[in-house]
Amino acid sequence: MKLALFDDYRLGVVTPDETALVDVTDALPWPHDPDPQGAGWWVRLCRDFAALRERLAAAARGTPRSLASVRLRAPVLNPSKIVAAASNYHAHVEEMHAVLERTAGGVEPWLMEFDVFLKAPSSIIGPEEAVVLPAAPLAAGKEIHHESELAVVIGRGGRHIPEHEALAHVLGYTIGLDMTVRGTGDRSRRKSYDTFTPLGPWLVTADEIADPHALHIHLTVNGTTRQDVNTRDMVVKIPGIIAYASSVMRLEPGDVILTGAPPGVGQVRPGDVLETRIAGIGRMRQTVVAAEDTGAPG
Ligand code: MN
Repeated sequence: MKLALFDDYRLGVVTPDETALVDVTDALPWPHDPDPQGAGWWVRLCRDFAALRERLAAAARGTPRSLASVRLRAPVLNPSKIVAAASNYHAHVEEMHAVLERTAGGVEPWLMEFDVFLKAPSSIIGPEEAVVLPAAPLAAGKEIHHESELAVVIGRGGRHIPEHEALAHVLGYTIGLDMTVRGTGDRSRRKSYDTFTPLGPWLVTADEIADPHALHIHLTVNGTTRQDVNTRDMVVKIPGIIAYASSVMRLEPGDVILTGAPPGVGQVRPGDVLETRIAGIGRMRQTVVAAEDTGAPG
């Protein structure tokens, strides 16, 4: 099932041909809350999806509306956190040597080791919104890069989740961009600017993805291929990321896990158009704009 959030945060099921969706909001066992701050209904849906699936599937046989007639939102709502994997593709770790020499004055060994860090959930935007390059890093001549990543959305939460049970905690998958200011300083700050986490175009439930480690990721900038890789090349696979992250912090329903940048990261500039595709999920397209320079930081 492809779950979409649209318009005033209604719930849709996307048709198999990906041209339309059916509004299934009224099939939920609670009243619709159009306030995106009131994300409790979405968290409950993530947690209890297995019990709700049948009634959503039945409602999805209703009248479709063209995707062109709705505004797609990010297919997550106020996650408690975005957990992001670092240094999770060997070829990306290799390319980062040159990137760090150029943008951070050298390579710190700990940056080249697999780990997880947090991004601010307020950096999330939907699949039809623009990435805004913040004024201060632009003015300072910093490079701002795209990282196209498979994103995991947690269903049932938990802590100390063992690897062999981890995929049972996955609600589904979506496409993520982990926009990043290169340079020195904490990753969480450099990756948490507003608009730095586009997600979309919808969430594909785990039952429709036979193997999340056999998905092709493809990103173009202005039509030129930058990233063209397969998720089989992840160093630490999704169960390992979930087990490690949940050994540190409780994973809550609706939390987002970015699985790490594949090779081919590179700079974006105002006016660029990013198109990201993951086979079996869909595609999304971002324009890149510069923030108005207010003189204020960021
Ligand atoms: Mn990343």
